Amino acid sequence: MINIKKFTFNPYQENTYVLFDETVECVILDPGMYDAAEQNEFVSFIKSAGLKPVLLLNTHCHIDHVLGNKFVFDNWGLKPQFNKGELPVLQSIPGYAPAMGMHYELSPEPEVYLEESGTVSFGKSSLTLVFAPGHSPAHLCFYSEPDNFLIGGDVLFYNSIGRTDLPGGNHAQLIKSIKENLFILPDECKVFPGHGQSTTIGFEKKNNPFLT
Ligand SMILES: [Zn+2]
Repeated sequence: MINIKKFTFNPYQENTYVLFDETVECVILDPGMYDAAEQNEFVSFIKSAGLKPVLLLNTHCHIDHVLGNKFVFDNWGLKPQFNKGELPVLQSIPGYAPAMGMHYELSPEPEVYLEESGTVSFGKSSLTLVFAPGHSPAHLCFYSEPDNFLIGGDVLFYNSIGRTDLPGGNHAQLIKSIKENLFILPDECKVFPGHGQSTTIGFEKKNNPFLT
């Protein structure tokens, strides 16, 4: 069984997740820690839970989701993994971060890229890749079938959806991704998004004003 620890970090209130199972191995998803207090909070959790980070994953590469990539690399030697279509998104950050008043520590680039389908593994667990472009050009979500949850990034939120006004965004594509690739998951599937509270596929099918 996979356990999920959620942190909410940085001025964008981005959700960073740590997934771990009965082994001590864990996955760090979308590390957004920004200042020393957030970095300390994160390290304290990993240490006190006795976890061993083995994988660093990014759903997509907007600044708020990768602010802690360098910190994770420095501490645990992990380079990020994401779909190759997000590389230009990552590489564009130094160009816009100063205008947003953000200090950005350059993220390492991947040695391993994730495909549009397949799985990633840690401990005794694995996650299925769900390709969901629209908010960004090559956004991935990560689904656990046995535990029935989705790490959703900025695709589907509680009663909302990801914005599509940033470079590479496409509203029609986002709606298509949600309807064709997320809404085929079970209604009870819990969604842990990149911002805000968790929800379920069934609740959003019924209530989400952008999708009903
Ligand atoms: Zn985003």
